[in-house]
Order: sequence, then C-alpha cells, then structure tokens
Amino acid sequence: MVQRDTVSLTDQQQLVRDSIRDICADFDDAYWREHEAAGEYPQEFVDQLSENGWFGALIPEEYDGAGMSTEEVVVMMEEIAANGGGFSAAQAIHGGIYNSVPLVKYGHEEMKADLLPKVARGETSIQAFGLTEPNAGSDSTSIETTAERDGDEFVVNGQKIWISRVDASDYIVLMARTTPKSEVEKRTQGMTMFLVNLEDAYDQGALQIEQIEKTASNLVHSYEMWFEDLRLEEDAVIGEEGEGFYQMLDGLNEERLVIAAECVGLGEAALEAGVDYASEREVFGNPIGQNQAIQHPLAEAYARVQAAKQMVYTAASAVENDANPKAIGARANMSKFLAADAAFDAADAAVQTHGGFGVAREYDVERYFREARLTRLVPITQQLVLNYVGENVLGLPRSY
Ligand SMILES: Cc1cc2nc3c(=O)[nH]c(=O)nc-3n(C[C@H](O)[C@H](O)[C@H](O)COP(=O)(O)OP(=O)(O)OC[C@H]3O[C@@H](n4cnc5c(N)ncnc54)[C@H](O)[C@@H]3O)c2cc1C
Repeated sequence: MVQRDTVSLTDQQQLVRDSIRDICADFDDAYWREHEAAGEYPQEFVDQLSENGWFGALIPEEYDGAGMSTEEVVVMMEEIAANGGGFSAAQAIHGGIYNSVPLVKYGHEEMKADLLPKVARGETSIQAFGLTEPNAGSDSTSIETTAERDGDEFVVNGQKIWISRVDASDYIVLMARTTPKSEVEKRTQGMTMFLVNLEDAYDQGALQIEQIEKTASNLVHSYEMWFEDLRLEEDAVIGEEGEGFYQMLDGLNEERLVIAAECVGLGEAALEAGVDYASEREVFGNPIGQNQAIQHPLAEAYARVQAAKQMVYTAASAVENDANPKAIGARANMSKFLAADAAFDAADAAVQTHGGFGVAREYDVERYFREARLTRLVPITQQLVLNYVGENVLGLPRSY
C-alpha cells in the first residue's frame, strides 16, 4: 500500500474521507475499467453519492445542503480519484457539486429556494457549465453566444463546444453576451450567466447537441451545443446582467484547488498500481521493483505528488482562514500546475513499470495515463496557468 494519509486532517475532513472511502469500496477497478471502455456514465456511483447527499456538499444547510467548504471537498475529490476512479470519476460529479455555487452566491431567492434543496437531495442536477466555444477557449471573453433582450425575455443564439455532462444534467449554467464586446469598456464586461432548463430548451426546439468522440475520461461525455432562438424568462438570469464573468471568477480559485486534489488522487491511484506491479512482477528471477531504474521514477513521482498534495491542503485550509484572495489565487493555480504534472509523471512511471502490460486495459494504468494527459489541458491549460503566475505573481507584463 502506498502511504496516502500524509497530511493532518480536521475531524470534519476525516469524516469526509471515511464516508467517501466507504462508498468507493463498493466500486472496484473493474467497475471503472468497464464503464470507461464502454463510454458509460457511472450512474450507480453517482446515485450512491446522491442518495448520501454529497451533491449538497457546498449548499448551505438552510437549503438542505451539508454546508461544507473547499477544505472538505478537496478530501472528497482526492478520495474518489485515488480509490480507482481516477480523474474521470471525480469529473463525473464535479459539475454537479460546483455549478450550484453561482446559485448560492448570486441566484435570486426564488431560484435558490426552488432548486438548491432539490440538488442537495439529488432530485435534480446542474451538472453542466457552458462557457467554451469554437472561437473562445482560453480566450473566454471572446464568446459569441448572445442573449438579446426581447421585452421580458432573452433570446439566446450561438454555439458551445466541449460542454461536459449535458446528458447527465437537468440544467446548464450558460454564459452568453448580453452586450457586444465592441460596446463594453473592458472585455470582461457584458457577459451574463443564465440558468437554462435543458428539457425546456429541447421542447422549444431551440437546442441541438452532438457528442464529441474523445480518447480520455470516457466516463464523462462532452458535447457540442447549438442554441437557436432559445427564449428565457428574465428570472433565468443568475446574479446581475453583464456581471457573469466576474461572478464566474468568484470561487474559481477554490474550484481550481479541488481540480488539483483530483489530480493528486489520480497520481496516487497510478502510483498504487505501479508499486503493486513492481513488487509482484519477477523478471530475471527478481521483482522488477528491485531495479533502481524502476524504483526511482516511482519514488520521484511519489515525491512530486506529495509536494503538490501539501500545497493543495495548506491552500484549502488558508481559504478557510480567509487568506488574501490574491495569495489563494497564486496557490490555487500553482497547485493545479504541479498536481497535473505530478499526476502525469506518476501515470507515466506506472505505465513504464508495467512494460507491455502498460497499454493493456486490464491493468488500468493506460487509462490513468490518458486522464493524466488530459489534466494538463483542462479546465485550463498549463500554459494559461503559467501566464497567470507570470503576470499576477511575478508581476511580468501580459503577453496577449
Ligand atoms: C474533456 C474536456 C471537457 C471540457 N469540459 C468543459 C465544460 O464542461 N465546459 C466548458 O465551458 N468548457 C469545457 N472544456 C473546454 C476547456 O476548458 C478548453 O478546452 C480549454 O480552456 C482550452 O481551450 P481550447 O481547447 O480552445 O484551446 P485554445 O484556447 O485554442 O489553445 C490552444 C493551445 O494554445 C495555447 N495558448 C493559447 N493562448 C496562449 C497564450 N496566450 N499563451 C500561451 N499559450 C497559449 C493553449 O494553452 C493551448 O495549449 C472541456 C475540454 C475538454 C477537453
């Protein structure tokens, strides 16, 4: 067993860890392997979490949620990834936990009172978040989807791409321009966040979706979406018209820390598989783990995963202690960068340790490797994280 209990946890964090480990114990490696190979959403796992109220983790108690915070959710997501589910198991539920946050912070009372208790009880889901477009990935303020006012309503037209979990969701939090980029002072202005009922959008004949074929994280499906004259009532606006981008940024650091925890968990799962195999497999009459060429990459990757983990956990506890948001931003971005690279090194070492079996589905490490590669791209690429650190931490000039 690779030592994973390396950070000291609060009582609440220990409870989260033990409860999630209990749930994960019912889902073995074969469950994740088979679902991923078949491209099937892990509905049974999601149902278990839902029945136990985990989708309400970040919802305040007054709306029937658990009223937890980043400190607890990093534990939850690391455990899900580390117990064999990998990054994609965490991603299968990530949106369902995080997309309620803008509602909690900015939603009007009727929206909150109606939806948050249902999300917390697992009766409805807000798993999808629609920002990215074919012409607006890293440059997200360039989105071209528009929501134009027409009396008391908004009319939405545009295209989104790479939107995950649309098939597993009742609602999508959608970002659209309510004021053209050419008419705002700053490009971060004029974007609005909407809550869209997907069934209503299909019923209006105003939404078409198509699944994107991809090679990693196949438990979770991602979609292209086309909106044509989708009519939304005024009360579908989350927060303030034109302020959507700023609302999205609020809470982004915490979410990024949780993504980093998912990468840590993935790295731990890969190391566990690599170390087990290195101990059991004998070549030339000895376990291969006796060779330093096998030992060192695993040991190095362990050190890197642990370093990232320390950073994630100290930053999560700093969030609780109301540290300066700029300092949290720096740590959250650096955590994501280090954890994604550490997960990649761990998965790569685990594949190499397995020799030819490194690419056999049966041993799972090829799946971890594909996922680890993905963590360097989403939800933000490693380069964009470095841009953030270069500009906001080191004070260097913006390059774009
Ligand atoms: C599996 C998956 C799931 C996703 N789920 C969602 C989702 O649910 N909702 C959603 O809204 N989006 C989602 N995304 C989109 C994701 O957030 C984007 O793919 C990501 O932000 C990168 O945008 P892009 O793919 O357009 O790359 P681009 O912006 O086209 O960038 C291409 C490359 O150029 C580099 N680059 C660009 N500009 C610079 C610069 N100034 N400096 C240095 N390098 C630069 C980038 O780092 C990258 O390597 C998902 C993507 C994937 C792959």
